[in-house]
Amino acid sequence: MARPAKKRRICRPPKFNCFTPIGKDIPEGVVVLEVDEYECLRLIDYEGLTQSECAEQMNLVRTSVTGIYARARQKIADSLVNGKELWIEGGSYEVCEGGLESCPSRKEHEKCSQCSKERTKLQ
Ligand SMILES: [Zn+2]
Repeated sequence: MARPAKKRRICRPPKFNCFTPIGKDIPEGVVVLEVDEYECLRLIDYEGLTQSECAEQMNLVRTSVTGIYARARQKIADSLVNGKELWIEGGSYEVCEGGLESCPSRKEHEKCSQCSKERTKLQ
């Protein structure tokens, strides 16, 4: 029997879920980036983490990160090159509010006012 897939940890969910091209043509379609793919891009391309650090942060093995990251970049490129709308939604994940003992970003969550506001809202 297959074990259920581990949920991917998301420490900073996207602020916006839809990006649309603006220009003289209308967008040519839609690319759907899953939230875990977004988190991979955020951690590696924005925060500058290595794939191994990203794996630890997201509660994944490194080989999974390699695949997710490659898919994410391919989708972003498709959106930029072909002028497609980019939606960020779906995927198998759980949002970390900093309360998870195992979260390597726990200190970062405590510093971040946006996170603590969200934490207060949830309580
Ligand atoms: Zn976290």
